[in-house]
Amino acid sequence: LAAKIIDGKAIAEGILAQTSARVAQLKNETGRVPGLAAVLVGDDAASKLYVANKRKACARAGIYDELHHLPGDCHEDELVVLINNLNNDPKINGILVQLPLPSHIHKEMVLDEIALEKDVDGISSLNLGKLVSREECFTPATALAVLKLIESTGEKVEGKNIVVVGESVLIGRPVSFLLLNQGATVTTCHRHTKNLAEFTKKAEVLVSAVGKPNLITHEMVREGAIVIDVGITEVLGENGKRRVVGDVDFEAVKQVASWITPVPGGVGPVTVEMLLKNTVKAFEQAI
Ligand code: NAP
Repeated sequence: LAAKIIDGKAIAEGILAQTSARVAQLKNETGRVPGLAAVLVGDDAASKLYVANKRKACARAGIYDELHHLPGDCHEDELVVLINNLNNDPKINGILVQLPLPSHIHKEMVLDEIALEKDVDGISSLNLGKLVSREECFTPATALAVLKLIESTGEKVEGKNIVVVGESVLIGRPVSFLLLNQGATVTTCHRHTKNLAEFTKKAEVLVSAVGKPNLITHEMVREGAIVIDVGITEVLGENGKRRVVGDVDFEAVKQVASWITPVPGGVGPVTVEMLLKNTVKAFEQAI
């Protein structure tokens, strides 16, 4: 029996409806709306598209947004000054620095300039440390999206054997810690994991966050598993057109799994809505 598809777009629409209603209510009560500032450095096409999508989502939710686009060769100090201005701007509740940053910029130093109460992407070292120590914090949006998508199947995370493939600071680690905090038994696999399939085969829930098409084949998936594909890779299709694919061999794995997210239309749209939710939370904490 083929797996059921987890419809990320529909789940995202549901979250958007809730966020829009909350923003309208806050506007009524305070005369103000939450504000998100996106900081984009350079002209990476994918980054531009991600930022444009996030801004579109803000407009749909009634969230104020502004874009700060700096040239790719800008000095680190310019970025620090900008972030400090945004930290002090009462219109802005959330600051999103779109990654990756150009290699001459010290990423960690820049991200750590974001005021903790405005770090809605949850990627400053202080915020991530709070996630690890189970303190109140902004959980990174992708991790929240993964949790939401798993829970949308009606299954609980608590007690599950979950394997996360990928251990980046931005995705794999926050996903692993959030699921661990929710009571799952989490195994995090990475480039140096020997016999990856031995681990993935045991997973009741398999999350892949690597960026390698077809890394996860059907032989690597336990029958009845929930499969969440975070990976996004642009490939050239047979028709010569560019398209995005995940890490999972979708058609084959669909025959083994019980639930599976598509790419596109899975983790991506829910991630954007989780960022907006964090921005509303930042506004609520500021009033
Ligand atoms: P990343 O920084 O490149 O991290 C990839 C991780 O996978 C690293 O831990 C890497 O290990 C590991 N890895 C590489 N090859 C592997 C292999 N053969 N087996 C097991 N692990 C392997 O990328 P990222 O920022 O975490 O993003 C991961 C993917 O998610 C990308 O495709 C990205 O485009 C996508 N993404 C999706 C969303 C969304 O909303 N859906 C949001 C952001 C990113 P090393 O550290 O040793 O290289």
